[in-house]
Amino acid sequence: MTQLELFRRFPQTEQLAHVELAELPTPVVAHEQLAHEIGIGGLWVKRDDRTASLYGGNKVRKLEFLLGDAIDQNRSRVWTVGAIGSHHVLATSLYARQLGLQPHALQFPQPVTDHVLDVLRALSTTRPRLQLVGSKHTLPVKMLQKHVKDWLSRAHDPYYIPGGGSAPRGVLGYVNAALELAHQIDEGELPCPDVIYVAAGTCGTLAGLVLGTRLAGLVTRVVGVRVVDKIIANPMITANLANRTGDLLRDCGLGVPKIRARDIEIIDDQIGDGYGEPTSAGEAAMRMWDEHIDFKLDPTYTAKTFAGLIDQTSGGDDQRVLYWHTLSSADLSELVDQSDIDADLPPEYRRFFEER
Ligand SMILES: *Cc1c(COP(=O)(O)O)cnc(C)c1O
Repeated sequence: MTQLELFRRFPQTEQLAHVELAELPTPVVAHEQLAHEIGIGGLWVKRDDRTASLYGGNKVRKLEFLLGDAIDQNRSRVWTVGAIGSHHVLATSLYARQLGLQPHALQFPQPVTDHVLDVLRALSTTRPRLQLVGSKHTLPVKMLQKHVKDWLSRAHDPYYIPGGGSAPRGVLGYVNAALELAHQIDEGELPCPDVIYVAAGTCGTLAGLVLGTRLAGLVTRVVGVRVVDKIIANPMITANLANRTGDLLRDCGLGVPKIRARDIEIIDDQIGDGYGEPTSAGEAAMRMWDEHIDFKLDPTYTAKTFAGLIDQTSGGDDQRVLYWHTLSSADLSELVDQSDIDADLPPEYRRFFEER
């Protein structure tokens, strides 16, 4: 068992409920040729695609604290929400099952791609209790909030995890991740980056990295690239989430700086036509990436983020840039092969498979 950097550095935080799911630290890899092609002094990739072998990506670090809390509270079910292709719903259901908890999710449609269908097939193997709402590609946030409220009011024993796992306890996972990076810098694995780029969806990853870099005393900018609607991803929400996470740490007796909305940097110009809609800049970023790196970007989150990185840093000469990779690189084919969607998904999900 490896000790979390948060607990090692601040032993008073060890009282926070936590369950080990990830294999940490994740590697940091330098890519000199790609840095050269972009025109920057150095590019490092933080490989959070490899947080765990069953299923990686950024949700695993959050779930260590969220599911740890659910177990600590003796809950037997977890309830969450996300689009049909949600990596968060998949990760939550896989790890809930692994820990003996029953997964439930309220889902809404999104543009259907092969990747979305594979996520649904993998999800079906966890035999989740699912409810689908909304009929178009997506639905207004206000309406979704109402659906969640109604649905939870009927739920028995709900341990509720908000979309993306972006509750303060989940964000602790990325406070720890920033401290882990600081330790890797101390060990000489990489220099302190001038700037970190990360996808901003429900902003828990961004909030945790901002707070964690502050706690670690790193003088690095953290830039979120917005890939969802502005109602969900903005500086106010991110700062608020960081501060509520700070409150959990303050309750442990830690001195934690306040984060203001104006401390949060979010780029708004990569979203294109909306969540899950590919962009040409994202596709170009993907092609450049594929020439140098043997694991993949996806059109919804990471291609847009990498496009934002290229757009903002290109020609920045000696800038040292870290790209925080958030997409799982675990092979889902075994789960996909085992899946029986007719038996394990509600009938109203069939149309997504028939449309393709
Ligand atoms: C969920 C997700 C994100 C967004 O993370 P947030 O903490 O919700 O901002 C980014 N990248 C990938 C691949 C994801 O699945």
